[in-house]
Amino acid sequence: MNENPPAAWQGLTPEQAAQRFAAEGANELPQPAPRTLGRIALEALREPMLQLLLASVAIYAALGDLHEAAMLSAFVAVSFAITLWQERRTERVLETLRELTSPRALVLRGGERVRIQGREVVVGDLLLLGDGDRIAADAQLLACHDLLTDESLLSGESMPVPKQAATPDAGPDATPDQSGLSQVYAGTLVISGQGLARVTATGARSEIGRIGKTLGEVEMPATPLWLETRRLVRIFSVLGLGISLAVLLLYGWLRGDWLGGVLAGLTLAMSMLPQEFLLILTVFTAMGAWRLSRQQVLTRRSAAIETLGAATVLCSDKTGTLTLNRMAVAELVLASDQGLQRWRADDPAGALLPAAFHALLDASWLASEREPVDPMEQAIHRLGQQQRNAPERFDGFELVHEYNLSPELLAMSHVWQVPVQETHEVAVKGAPEAVARLCQLAPERRQALLAAAQAMAGDGLRVLAVARASFEGHDWPATQQGFDFELLGLVGLSDPVRPGVPEAVRDCRAAGIRVLMITGDHPETARAIARQAGLAHEGALLTGTELAALDDQALRERVRTVAVYARVRPEQKLRIVEALKANGEVVAMTGDGVNDAPSLKAAHIGIAMGQRGTDVAREAAALVLLKDDFASMVGAIRAGRGIFDNLRKAMAYVLAVHVPIAGLSLLPLLLGWPLVFMPVHIAFLELVIDPVASLVFESEPQDPELMRRPPRDPAAPLFSLQLIALSLLQGGLVLAGVGGLFAGLWLNGVGEAQARAMTFVALVSASFGLVLLKRGTDLRGLLRPNPALLAIAALTAGLLALALLLPAARGLFQFAPLPLDWVLGAGLLGLLAPAAALPWQRRSLGTPPPG
Ligand code: ADP
Ligand code: MG
Repeated sequence: MNENPPAAWQGLTPEQAAQRFAAEGANELPQPAPRTLGRIALEALREPMLQLLLASVAIYAALGDLHEAAMLSAFVAVSFAITLWQERRTERVLETLRELTSPRALVLRGGERVRIQGREVVVGDLLLLGDGDRIAADAQLLACHDLLTDESLLSGESMPVPKQAATPDAGPDATPDQSGLSQVYAGTLVISGQGLARVTATGARSEIGRIGKTLGEVEMPATPLWLETRRLVRIFSVLGLGISLAVLLLYGWLRGDWLGGVLAGLTLAMSMLPQEFLLILTVFTAMGAWRLSRQQVLTRRSAAIETLGAATVLCSDKTGTLTLNRMAVAELVLASDQGLQRWRADDPAGALLPAAFHALLDASWLASEREPVDPMEQAIHRLGQQQRNAPERFDGFELVHEYNLSPELLAMSHVWQVPVQETHEVAVKGAPEAVARLCQLAPERRQALLAAAQAMAGDGLRVLAVARASFEGHDWPATQQGFDFELLGLVGLSDPVRPGVPEAVRDCRAAGIRVLMITGDHPETARAIARQAGLAHEGALLTGTELAALDDQALRERVRTVAVYARVRPEQKLRIVEALKANGEVVAMTGDGVNDAPSLKAAHIGIAMGQRGTDVAREAAALVLLKDDFASMVGAIRAGRGIFDNLRKAMAYVLAVHVPIAGLSLLPLLLGWPLVFMPVHIAFLELVIDPVASLVFESEPQDPELMRRPPRDPAAPLFSLQLIALSLLQGGLVLAGVGGLFAGLWLNGVGEAQARAMTFVALVSASFGLVLLKRGTDLRGLLRPNPALLAIAALTAGLLALALLLPAARGLFQFAPLPLDWVLGAGLLGLLAPAAALPWQRRSLGTPPPG
């Protein structure tokens, strides 16, 4: 804010705001109505599996088997209910995420700055605008400083629009003007500057609401994995339907039984349809986003969940991500003619600041904002209050002009009107090089200053140089160079490394991920913090100036070894990302500012800071860290790897389990045996497979070795040849065991109905055997508890018992009663059949990740 908001600017009281909120409603654009249960139901009816089941019901009805038709309808109902439940759950998860990512607004309420949800903004609220903000509602500017907005969303015009306050000293009751210059609009962006504005319209009554546009939200677009899976599903579907049709024709023609042929064809089609694949992917992605959100990481683009596990380089900024951004003034150094004089805050004798340092501290205070947001300035304010009785000391001082920090000149100046003084007082603070330039220091003094700054930075301090000047008149120079500055000294600020960062960096190294630090700070400070964070021995340091001198090819070489980048400008981050990408790295990159947006977009995984970050950065990013903490980023990578791992397991499982199901539907037709399975059996098996694959594998605990493996090759397909071969082998073994059981019983004169019941028991238990095999081969992996697995196993066992014991169900399944020891024998056989694949599974585990 240019000036301190006058006391009259208190904003609404919380009570007023609550009243208006109740009267006006939320500041939201009309949302597309959430899908009703009816819509979800209609969409679920389009599921091929359901259609096949319904077709079977119709056939049974046509055959006059009303009993069977009714029972099968019950199955349809159950399967339908499960689909609806899954859909609703996914929908609700997405809904929650959408709420979490909705924009926020900084408002004045009862004289306090509070950050609220954008939807809670009401007419009359005072909005505080800063660069990078997405404006929450239409509002009238009451005060602003260098404010530029991007209104392309409304006007299609991409030129930045300069804004002006309505009347320079508009009070709380100023009336809106018609020029549009002082009006800012919901949904548009603040490119630079600051402002204070009073909300005039919210929600559908705002400009953007009137033209009916919506902003980008959490999206679930087609990701590479989704496309790959869909291709696979298509191939399998065509294959399955082709075979089913062939079987239908053969059966009808050879056996002269067309209705039976249709039933056999339907059974086969149901057994071969791989529709679970897409369902699994959807569920895993939505649940993955939800799991990440519990670790304080929001997903804006679901593709990031897939890519996270493949990340090879993590580029982190320093301040606030690796460090706490909790600054304290640790040291003051005077640049007087008698050499350097030092004061340390932690020095026992340093409790009271000697008079010699007063001018330095006062100038640092004057070069800071009145209501500082920047932690460095807050630290200066704290010391000023302790030692200099600020802000009372500066009562009556009026800030009349200011010069902002810019990437070209890392310094900011304030011009003050001082009571009973002719001339203005000018204070500047900034990077030592920049201030040395402004003071036009002689070479020796410049050398001495930079050496002192370097020594302080070597201790990990952030160093600012401070200078002052006097200025007469009101013709402010165009730039800060126009003042005649006199150097006062240096301020050293400490910013501790976040607890947990060294461990997280170590985890990354063990996981084959390089951690790079990119900062705008002094090289020595960067080096010292890198050392504390455990990054130092990763390589050399490159500064922004050196970087600018390198061509792309040379930069590609340097980024292979350099871990610390200092005095880097935000736009140079983009070059670093591009160079890393050109080297084949999968890049995760953090950022918070407006200028970080391009590099966040360019990185494979752009990560924005939820607290410090601007809306622009958040919108450009794929992930948002709610806690701004480096460690949670590493946690997200771990989660991403875990999700991918479990996804592979689920997919491999579905592939494997379909082999015996399809095989047992097809083989009897080819060998002229009685049909083993009918639609009802397949429906039952599908009831097991879907939840097993999506629930059990989704909630599967993470492999402790997860972060000790190298990153996954992003180019490797989800369904590698190895994975397909292994799954087909495992499925084949189950088919051999279970099919062999049927053949043995049938050929030895056991009745068809009993043989079918035995085979079915064996197959259901084999499908659990496959789950165990996919979970892991060692005892530790097997014993890791998974409540979902236990629940589904118990449920399935119960249903199976009903099918075997209830006469009506027995009729539908065409089972005959079985002695208990037969059932147990079949169950054991099924459970153990997949174990025959153990030797291959072990070998495949040798090369991570497992299939
Ligand atoms: P980082 O990458 O560590 O976040 P910044 O880009 O925020 O670094 O800052 C880069 C440099 O700009 C700082 O080292 C400091 O010299 C200067 N600087 C930053 N903020 C201020 C400020 N409020 N006043 C003066 N100088 C500043
Ligand atoms: Mg910064």
